[in-house]
Amino acid sequence: MSGDIFVVFEHLRGQIADISYIMLAAARDLAQTTGGEVIGVLLGHNAQDIVSHVAADRVLYGDHPALADFNPEGYANTLSGLIQAEGPRAVFFGSTSIGADIAGVLSARLGLPLVGSCIQIGEGNIISKICGGKIMVETVLADDDTTLITMIPGGYKPAQGQSETPPTATPFEVSIDSLRISLKQYIEPEAGDVDISSEKVLIAIGRGIQTADNIELAQELAELLGGAVCASRPVVDQGWLPATRLVGKSGKSVKPKLYLALGISGAPEHVEGMADAEMVVAINMDPNAPIFNVATYGAEIDLFDLIDPLIEKLEAAA
Ligand SMILES: Cc1cc2nc3c(=O)[nH]c(=O)nc-3n(C[C@H](O)[C@H](O)[C@H](O)COP(=O)(O)OP(=O)(O)OC[C@H]3O[C@@H](n4cnc5c(N)ncnc54)[C@H](O)[C@@H]3O)c2cc1C
Repeated sequence: MSGDIFVVFEHLRGQIADISYIMLAAARDLAQTTGGEVIGVLLGHNAQDIVSHVAADRVLYGDHPALADFNPEGYANTLSGLIQAEGPRAVFFGSTSIGADIAGVLSARLGLPLVGSCIQIGEGNIISKICGGKIMVETVLADDDTTLITMIPGGYKPAQGQSETPPTATPFEVSIDSLRISLKQYIEPEAGDVDISSEKVLIAIGRGIQTADNIELAQELAELLGGAVCASRPVVDQGWLPATRLVGKSGKSVKPKLYLALGISGAPEHVEGMADAEMVVAINMDPNAPIFNVATYGAEIDLFDLIDPLIEKLEAAA
């Protein structure tokens, strides 16, 4: 087994996904204790240019027309061979639909340990956040096996995994005969509603908003602050707001200047979509709500004690 740490890049339509940079930041942290190089693994077709800003010591590039788009079968087959040949100390995947698709298969196929929901590296160990952020787990790397790790956002910023110096990309041989799975088409989300991913101010509401009628208050606040209302999953699941307003793993990723989170607990699936907001202000009655871990400012109060006076003050200042 080598001491190197692999990071399997995620990319879509010529763009490296932020989770790839987050994984690189964690891998660099891990390498400081365990030693070895941080090696990016890029699977794609004519895609070598997309890794110009990754903070990897080097990149292994598997180029094949069948890997032009994510293909679970093609990825798993290619990565199985690579991991067996190179024997890295650890391999990072995103805790995303793509990462979940391949990390589990590789763990079962190669008999390797898999650590889920890593958010941070602490003294060479993997720190995972599970059960909606209520439990933190520390895992020691396996001594004699490659450890597979899936990574959630929230512990590192994408900028920590970026570099101005492009790494060298070395091709490795990919042999794919035929695949049973192929991409037919991309299905674009419905257009027509506000695009929350480009809003500078977001008023985010969670289950704490209690009823559909109360959403009006958040809308009033959003209008006064020149922003839009977005939501956590329970609000969308109730049909109180359309799916286009959902922030998180199954919704959109947002990067506003201000993210005012009202009655949102801060589950990892939600934080995944808003961890890159410039300023997060969290309002929650529970002092232990995980949202406070990613908040710039927080207030442990009833959101209904805040909204009315805030609206009054903003109206007076307008
Ligand atoms: C595969 C998968 C994908 C998922 N994808 C997403 C996703 O994309 N986006 C997403 O958001 N979730 C997603 N979830 C769900 C996620 O795990 C959480 O269940 C969800 O984010 C919780 O939403 P919440 O914070 O609004 O509700 P809760 O967790 O119930 O939190 C409500 C919070 O409101 C606070 N509160 C209550 N009343 C008040 C009040 N009057 N004043 C102030 N605070 C108050 C409470 O203290 C609590 O912290 C996903 C889950 C799975 C399994």
